[in-house]
Amino acid sequence: MAGCIFCAIVTGEAPAHVIYADDDAVAFLDRRPSALGHTLVAPRRHVEHLWDGDAEDVVAVARAVHATAALLHDRLQPDGLTMRQNTGAASGQDVFHLHVHLVPRWHGDGHIGWPTRPDDLPDLAEVQARLTR
Ligand code: 5GP
Ligand code: ZN
Repeated sequence: MAGCIFCAIVTGEAPAHVIYADDDAVAFLDRRPSALGHTLVAPRRHVEHLWDGDAEDVVAVARAVHATAALLHDRLQPDGLTMRQNTGAASGQDVFHLHVHLVPRWHGDGHIGWPTRPDDLPDLAEVQARLTR
C-alpha cells in the first residue's frame, strides 16, 4: 500500500536488516530495538489489524514467527523470548501494517510484563458468557 513503510520494506524498496524471508512474510530487525535481536515479522500482504484480512494472513505470519524464533534461539541463545502483537492505537500500534514483535529475553534483563489488577478481578464466567453466547 502506498505510503506504508512495512510494505516498502517487504518489497525491498526501503532498507531494512532482513533476517528471514519466505513467499508470504518477512522478518527484519526493529530499528529501535528493546533487546538484542528484537525482530518484527510482517506479512507481505498489507493487512492493518489482526482482525482484518483472513486466517491465511495470520498463518503466514505464524510460519515466519516459528522460523525466526528458531533462528534467534540458535544464534543468540536467549533464555526466553517474548512475542507481542499490537493491534489498534489503544494497544500501542504505531505502524498500521500487521506485525509481530519477537524480543529475545535473558534472565534479569529487567523487562517488565503487562499489568495485572489484583484488586479489580473480573468475573471470568461473565466474560466467558460475553464471548461465547
Ligand atoms: P508497533 O508499536 O506498531 O507495534 O511497533 C512498530 C515498531 O516498528 C516500533 O518498535 C518501531 O521501532 C519499528 N519501526 C517503525 N518504523 C520502522 C522502520 O522504518 N524500520 C524498522 N526496521 N523498524 C521500524
Ligand atoms: Zn503495508
